[in-house]
Amino acid sequence: METLDILIFGAHPDDAEIGMGGTIAKHTAAGLRVGICDLTLAEMSSNGTVESRKKEAEAAAEVLKLAMRSNLEMPDRGLYLTPEHVERIVLEIRKWKPRLVFAPYWEDRHPDHIACSKLVQEAVFNAKLRRYMPEVPAHTVGESYFYFINDIVEPGVMVNVTDVYEQKTAALRAYRTQFEAVGNDAVQTPLTQGYLERVEARDKLLGQKRSLPFAEGFISKLPYLTEQF
Ligand SMILES: [Zn+2]
Repeated sequence: METLDILIFGAHPDDAEIGMGGTIAKHTAAGLRVGICDLTLAEMSSNGTVESRKKEAEAAAEVLKLAMRSNLEMPDRGLYLTPEHVERIVLEIRKWKPRLVFAPYWEDRHPDHIACSKLVQEAVFNAKLRRYMPEVPAHTVGESYFYFINDIVEPGVMVNVTDVYEQKTAALRAYRTQFEAVGNDAVQTPLTQGYLERVEARDKLLGQKRSLPFAEGFISKLPYLTEQF
């Protein structure tokens, strides 16, 4: 089985697209193998169904040309820091052996995003321990980065996503049941009330410091390492 260059974790299908859809599009266009692992099916979302969300996630994966998209089907609103949840994420990391792992930024108004961030950090650490689940070979992730969903802080790294911004928008628009109140039983939520416009405004604002039309921001817990500038 082919490995991945980049493995991105999200609590819900659409998290990775919100935070880094443009960065994904740039890397897949450059020939890198990028995958997304969603921890839950987002069954607690007020709009849409698990089935519609699955189809939307597949459509977004096609837009972004993902090499892989998986779902661990953990309980939505039940992403507690348990040994079992950590183990399942470790297995996913060891299976795909990514050089880079991305997770949601560790502060966010949605507790599941915080939980996902924490679980992935624990799993990245454990994945390299050969005596942790010794039946599956250990894997050391090169670097971990965090992307923004709702909350933002000053990014440490940014990616110029101007030339792929339409692809990001198309990937997000794939989640129609989330961002538009479609159907008779749909209700208004923070997502249906201009959420995508806010994401676009955020990406514009992030670009401002570098005079870029659009950028996505990332943060790392470790300093950026280089041999030479
Ligand atoms: Zn989410």
